[in-house]
Amino acid sequence: MTQFGTCALCCEPNKILQDSHLIPRAVYEVCRTPDLKNPSPVIVTKKVVLQAPHQISDYLLCKNCENRFNSRGESWILARLPRDGVSPLYGALSKLQSVGSYGEDRLYVTAGCPDIDTQKLVYFAMSVYWRASVQRWKHLGGEVGIQLGKYEEPLRKWLMDEDSFPRNMAIVVCIPPSPQALAMTYGPRAMQNSRFHVFTLYVPGVEFILFVGNRLPEDAVVACAQNTAEKFVFSSPDVVKKAKEAFWNLRRESHVSRKLQESLERFRASKRGNKVRHFPPLTVFRNGLSGAQQRLDRKEIVHR
Ligand SMILES: [Zn+2]
Repeated sequence: MTQFGTCALCCEPNKILQDSHLIPRAVYEVCRTPDLKNPSPVIVTKKVVLQAPHQISDYLLCKNCENRFNSRGESWILARLPRDGVSPLYGALSKLQSVGSYGEDRLYVTAGCPDIDTQKLVYFAMSVYWRASVQRWKHLGGEVGIQLGKYEEPLRKWLMDEDSFPRNMAIVVCIPPSPQALAMTYGPRAMQNSRFHVFTLYVPGVEFILFVGNRLPEDAVVACAQNTAEKFVFSSPDVVKKAKEAFWNLRRESHVSRKLQESLERFRASKRGNKVRHFPPLTVFRNGLSGAQQRLDRKEIVHR
């Protein structure tokens, strides 16, 4: 059914609105397991863990603005999502020499690097953060989104090339230091911080941390992937650690659906005797996290 309305990005009225995704459809594809009877990702919310094909979308943008998001970042990054678990972004980063380190984190200069288009990574991330803030998105009987408040409009203008990058924002790009990317996705979600706002977003193979506020931390400003000529990108094992923590924080509060429970039992029975047991990727969205290849049950399910 055709939906008419005002496009949230260009603000033009009476446009045919597209069914726009909060997180691109291709990300869900990476989180599926096609060779299983039920290939859908596992979705974890605060209330429930279930296997479902639900994707978060709504009539939000006109065709031109959808195309803008595609050409300015989405197509590039979606072509670099991990296939068979191997991360092309890690492959590209591993060819570079790091220029500094902070504990286990490594810092890389990506300006001029032909295989990492940091401008596209940043535009993609900022477009998802903006989408998450512009409305509440319905998902599995609840709502998903973040609040950018007065910072939302400057971000919209930057996405439309009507203004420079918001001066109260810094974005840090982190690629986990492993060729095997977690095939999961989480966020955008708000982290606790009293001095400034911090939001995180992970799609398979790369995490984006957005800092917002009048008093941004100096580390984030110096390492910002957008505002530095070097187009800095980090490699940090914390990405995986934080993703697992977020998963377990959500998982603690939720119950496993009866259907998924039964699927797990069938799965365990079919694998009896094998040491390594696999189950489909996990996808977590509510306040959180979506994803793959996490341990649903520590005793029974092991990473691929
Ligand atoms: Zn538009």
